[in-house]
Amino acid sequence: MIYENVVCPFCGCLCDDIIVTVENGQITNTKNACAISKSKFVNHHQNALNPSIGGQEVSLEKAIDKAADILRNSQAPLIYGLSSTECEAQRHAIHLAEILGATIDQTASVCHGPTILGLQDAGCVKCSLGEVKNRADLVVYWGCNPAEAHMRHFRRYSVFPEGMFRKSKKEREIAVVDVRKTTSARIANTFIKIEPGTDFEVISLMRAHLKGRDVPLREEYKTLLEKMKTCEFGIIFFGLGLTMSKGKHLNVNAALRLVRDLNEYTKFSITPMRGHYNVAGAGSTMAWVTGYPFAVNFSLGYPVHNPGEFSAVDVLARKECDAALIIASDPVSNFPSETWKHLADIPTIVMDPKVNLTSKIAHVCIPVATAGIEAEGTAYRMDGVPLRLKKVLDSPWLSDADVLSQLIEKVMA
Ligand code: SF4
Repeated sequence: MIYENVVCPFCGCLCDDIIVTVENGQITNTKNACAISKSKFVNHHQNALNPSIGGQEVSLEKAIDKAADILRNSQAPLIYGLSSTECEAQRHAIHLAEILGATIDQTASVCHGPTILGLQDAGCVKCSLGEVKNRADLVVYWGCNPAEAHMRHFRRYSVFPEGMFRKSKKEREIAVVDVRKTTSARIANTFIKIEPGTDFEVISLMRAHLKGRDVPLREEYKTLLEKMKTCEFGIIFFGLGLTMSKGKHLNVNAALRLVRDLNEYTKFSITPMRGHYNVAGAGSTMAWVTGYPFAVNFSLGYPVHNPGEFSAVDVLARKECDAALIIASDPVSNFPSETWKHLADIPTIVMDPKVNLTSKIAHVCIPVATAGIEAEGTAYRMDGVPLRLKKVLDSPWLSDADVLSQLIEKVMA
């Protein structure tokens, strides 16, 4: 059986042209997928999680009952993850957090959370990836390395595709600004090596130079700025080089304001290179349900948003939760050790299709169908465009959305 136009459930490019071959209940091949995507599709059944309590395998029903017990008896639960599951599951997770009076956070808080804070302050001149493909003649990648993290970004949206007004790479200028000459820098017309931790200073000097001030800005940045002013349609794509380096949200804030200033001269946009395939959906779903995109607490009976207080890393570092539900994420592999260790000290529940480092320290493990392969749903691309994930295989397990809706019923019973 061949499935066409499948949406890839891996990175924020959310490529929707994947062709998947299914033979004897297994995915045996893919077309159009990058190496990461192919590995996810073809190997999705490896290291599968089984339902367990305290390391002992149990039935799925018992694992869900135990999870409901833990959450019902918790005074201050934390719900975290959500970026690698569908929006329908995210909506249930938020509902569960409201019922429990829990803190709920999604992976943006350790990724593009500073982007969200930056745009809450400065606003954002946005466009879709389709507009980039059709119109952009100047593409600046700042602090990101799509050749390794978003492998089809160049080909589908920004460098190589034939668009309505740009027929090939020859009609686009590509610039990369980064602390090292990455693989992405090899395809660029211009590479600028920036000193680590100086993004805020450099972007602020660029803004001042743009406004005619005499500031000590290096020639290469002046040249880039001239290209930005004189292009027909420019775009900055930025990544963790801005959000996770010194200055964090202030770096993003400065970049957003630079783009706003550039619109005095030409058409210019900016887009964050969102990581997980539905981290943008997690932000959108939380925002339209609670009013806030991440780091939300329901202990007062209504949503309160305060990153730094209600972000998962901070809640764990201060040991302010007494139970945790981790959905579609692996904080043990990417949180600072002094924070994730608290997860091992409290009853932690993991919902995931696969064994990961967090499931190894969890008290209750609940396997789920892999969203985008064994369960359908909605996901949001990095530019905010929603796409429908397809189901191409059956699973012995429930989807995240179905497990969460059972948890809601049992917690309320
Ligand atoms: S670039 Fe991202 S979304 Fe596209 S196929 Fe690769 S992993 Fe999937």
